[in-house]
Amino acid sequence: MEDGRQAELQALADQVHICLECRLAESRRVAVPGEGPLDANLMWVGEAPGAAEDAVGRPFVGASGRFLRSAIKAAGLDPERMFITNVVKCRPPGNRRPRPDEVAICTGLYLARQVALVAPRALVALGATAAQALLAGEVRMTAEHGTWRQDEDLSGRALPVFVTYHPAAALRNERWREEMRADLGALAASCERMAYGG
Ligand code: URA
Repeated sequence: MEDGRQAELQALADQVHICLECRLAESRRVAVPGEGPLDANLMWVGEAPGAAEDAVGRPFVGASGRFLRSAIKAAGLDPERMFITNVVKCRPPGNRRPRPDEVAICTGLYLARQVALVAPRALVALGATAAQALLAGEVRMTAEHGTWRQDEDLSGRALPVFVTYHPAAALRNERWREEMRADLGALAASCERMAYGG
């Protein structure tokens, strides 16, 4: 069963690497499926790969990734035990925001399957693009960061979604950086309470 899910997750990643379903395939260098253990309790979802990720095919390996991983560790969680991925798996040209059709195609083909296969206990939406992709209603980041939402999610199950800033935005704004650190502290406390920390 476990082996089957692992093989399916790998097959999905292989599919991402050769995907030609939207225009982002024309400009990407290496697609970035995302990574993490099959038994991850938390799945972290960013917006899209940036230049550093596009060069190596791994999520959050640039400056914002370094900040994210250090903030996760500072909150007492282990980034190695998390599944980390993005709404879209290919870098948009010039790091523009992914367009609605790109989000719809990529989440329908890949993110929803990843959520179903890994079956995490909860999702973490990093920034507005992820929050909008994972949740049905409007998300006001400045008011709702650091809180849990629970809507019908991508996989059709009502998974809890923790909303926080995108680490690149936090890197640009000291107040958001402090708020994001506090958010992750609150997330770690919830995980401990619900016994699904890492
Ligand atoms: N920003 C993202 O949203 N995802 C990455 O993987 C890197 C930067």
